[in-house]
This record gives sequence, structure tokens and C-alpha cells, in this order.
Amino acid sequence: MKNNNGVKLERSYEKHIKVFGKSLKVLRVILIAVVGIVYSVMLANENGSYIPMGFAAFFVALLVFAIYLRQKSFVYFGEYCLEASEAGDIYLTMLHGHCPKCEGHLKLVKKRKGLGKFVTFILCDKNSTHIWNAFANSKEDKNKKKNESKS
Ligand SMILES: [Zn+2]
Repeated sequence: MKNNNGVKLERSYEKHIKVFGKSLKVLRVILIAVVGIVYSVMLANENGSYIPMGFAAFFVALLVFAIYLRQKSFVYFGEYCLEASEAGDIYLTMLHGHCPKCEGHLKLVKKRKGLGKFVTFILCDKNSTHIWNAFANSKEDKNKKKNESKS
């Protein structure tokens, strides 16, 4: 296994997010949000009340977030990270890594490289020139996830 010049990200916590025992997929969240928006707007039109508009705003925020997660694959919340796998499953994880060049922390960043093509990098949060290709790591993760879903 290639160790990327000693640059390592450790996944110290991983939780597959499920709702009612079913995997919460990004596309499912988008669908729920769209249905929610349509339903809230319909309610608002019928009642003329502002309360359904609050729900509509919530579903719009949910939709924007789900699309963002689908694009980025990694969304950080302090210590935690929401990750979307290629299959669309959502994981709550904790990723730890220390930059070998400075005191910064490392995180995973996905960048678009052409249409529908993405490259994942390990990026230092203190210096954006401290960057490594995360291909060796992500390939390992994919195999791991494949094996998990088989069992
Ligand atoms: Zn650094």
C-alpha cells in the first residue's frame, strides 16, 4: 500500500446514517425536500398562512444542503464530517490527520476536474499549498465499503 509520503488521514469514527433501518441516500433526501417544498407551497396557497412557508424554507435549505453534499462528498461540522459515498449512502465520520509540513489539520476535499469527474485531495487547513492526492486512501475505502455492503 502506498502511504503517500507519510500523509495519513485516520477515520476514527464512522456511522452509516439510517432512517427506519434504511440507508439515507442523498438522492432520497433531495426527493423528500422537493416533495416537501411542493407540499408546503400548496398548503401556503390554500391557507394563506405564513406557517407553511416556514416549512418550505426548511425544505429549501435541506435541498440546497443535499445538493451541496452530493457535489462535495465531504461536509465538515467541527470535529465531524458528513460523507456521501459514490453509491449515495451518507456516513457521519471523524477524520483525523496532522499536516507533516506545519501544525495544521488535514481534511479531505473533493474537487471537480472536468464534467462528472472528481479528484479527492488531502488538504491542510492552514496552508492550501500543503496538498496531497488522496487516491491511495479513497481506493482502499471504496473496497472496504464494497465488502461491507456484501456481508
Ligand atoms: Zn500544513
